[in-house]
Amino acid sequence: MTHHDVVFIGGGPAGYTGAIRAAQLGFRTACIEKEQKLGGTCLRVGCIPSKALLEASEKFESTSHHLAEFGVKVGEVSLDLGQMMKRKESIVDGLTGGVDFLFKKNKVSRYLGHARILSATDTGAHIRVTDAAGAVEEISADHVIIATGSNVAPLRGVEVDGDRVGTSTEALSYPSVPQSLVVIGAGYIGLEMGSVWRRLGTKVTVVEYLDRILPGMDLEIAREALKLFKKQGFDFRLSSKVTSARRDGDSAVVEIEGQEPLRAERVLLSAGRVPNTEGLGLDELGVERDRRGFIVADGNYRTNVPGLYAVGDVIGGAMLAHKAEEEGVACVELIAGQAGHVNYDAIPGVVYTEPEIATVGRTEEQLSEIGARFKKGVFAFIANGRARALGSTAGKVKILADESTDRVLGVHIIGPRAGDLIAEAVAAIEFGASSEDIARTCHAHPTLSEAMREAALGVSDRIRQA
Ligand SMILES: Cc1cc2nc3c(=O)[nH]c(=O)nc-3n(C[C@H](O)[C@H](O)[C@H](O)COP(=O)(O)OP(=O)(O)OC[C@H]3O[C@@H](n4cnc5c(N)ncnc54)[C@H](O)[C@@H]3O)c2cc1C
Repeated sequence: MTHHDVVFIGGGPAGYTGAIRAAQLGFRTACIEKEQKLGGTCLRVGCIPSKALLEASEKFESTSHHLAEFGVKVGEVSLDLGQMMKRKESIVDGLTGGVDFLFKKNKVSRYLGHARILSATDTGAHIRVTDAAGAVEEISADHVIIATGSNVAPLRGVEVDGDRVGTSTEALSYPSVPQSLVVIGAGYIGLEMGSVWRRLGTKVTVVEYLDRILPGMDLEIAREALKLFKKQGFDFRLSSKVTSARRDGDSAVVEIEGQEPLRAERVLLSAGRVPNTEGLGLDELGVERDRRGFIVADGNYRTNVPGLYAVGDVIGGAMLAHKAEEEGVACVELIAGQAGHVNYDAIPGVVYTEPEIATVGRTEEQLSEIGARFKKGVFAFIANGRARALGSTAGKVKILADESTDRVLGVHIIGPRAGDLIAEAVAAIEFGASSEDIARTCHAHPTLSEAMREAALGVSDRIRQA
């Protein structure tokens, strides 16, 4: 039986990044992944293909509608959906192949198959790997790190058939542009995928149980996003409870409590994600999970069973690729006796819609809830020269800082390239910066980043540009 120091189960961002780091630390490392392609949800059916389609559909929409104001005339613009999908696939293939290359380069052994943990004690664990053809191999390890990620959360009454009623995985590959799409859930995945298809010509209706979109994000920013998305043609049904969704002939019917049913060509269920622990053998081993099924891990990512650790989406928290990566790396560094650490106050979140939305740290609601005293600086992109040149002036930067120490507690942005701008705020929070630090940092002119500086100046009522 082959023995490894460290085995990751799952080859997503948590697993592949952690495995590469473990090998770099000198551990004999393996990664078990059941899918042929490495990279997990993120590379195969998540972050990367969705961003490829967002970029492509944005180009289609802006070329179709927004070039005239720049004085650029184009002929008739038409859509080649097949090529758009081909490009997406080739980006995915390039990146998943890149992970294979990195495994070889760093001498990470790769097992292809479904992993089940047979036993785990102080002296090591045994794992059975079963491939798609049923062939079985057993391996052992000193440390097993569960990084099996998450799946779409089911919703009572919603009958997913993978065709008319599907998930984000299907929405990444619709064979033609649907005339109409109902998105269940106004989180970032629903809004991003809804944006892709709306830009290509679909009538998109988003149904959300809560009275707001983007739950968990700063409310002022989410309200602004709602206004902008409505202007773009999204239809929103907030405070609306879906009671059923099912295929009906060539379309689907969505029933909503107290409202007329909606009929659409396709339905996308994106109302949250659940941990993926099926067939891992966790019940037999007695691995503790919370009431939603997420594996309970301590500050060092240890589960309650010796030798078993868990990282990434499967332990919950922010279900984002970069958080998963940080945990995979921190976990093996801690096993190696190093000071691996994840600063959960400095995990950014980005929604790649148009405009983008990005956030880090505490929201205004969270600060009010804990009774924190804070100051606020806000700067609108309409007054930023670069945003005007780009023709993208909607949105704002909002900085929240501690009232007495001025330490930056949260930064929330809606506007052009917010996903890139947030990096400065993440660094500020990571280094314990004050809003004054940002305000006194020289920012190139004319850049969007000046909006960050102006918002920081706004914390002490010193905004200069407008
Ligand atoms: C449509 C969509 C868009 C997204 N966009 C973004 C984004 O823009 N930015 C962002 O940060 N996050 C995004 N996410 C979330 C991101 O994909 C996840 O947070 C991230 O992939 C989690 O990484 P992970 O390694 O924990 O799990 P995963 O990436 O889910 O990887 C887990 C892997 O484990 C494998 N596996 C599971 N069980 C077993 C087993 N028993 N044996 C062997 N292998 C197993 C699975 O096949 C999978 O490959 C998106 C998600 C979706 C669905």
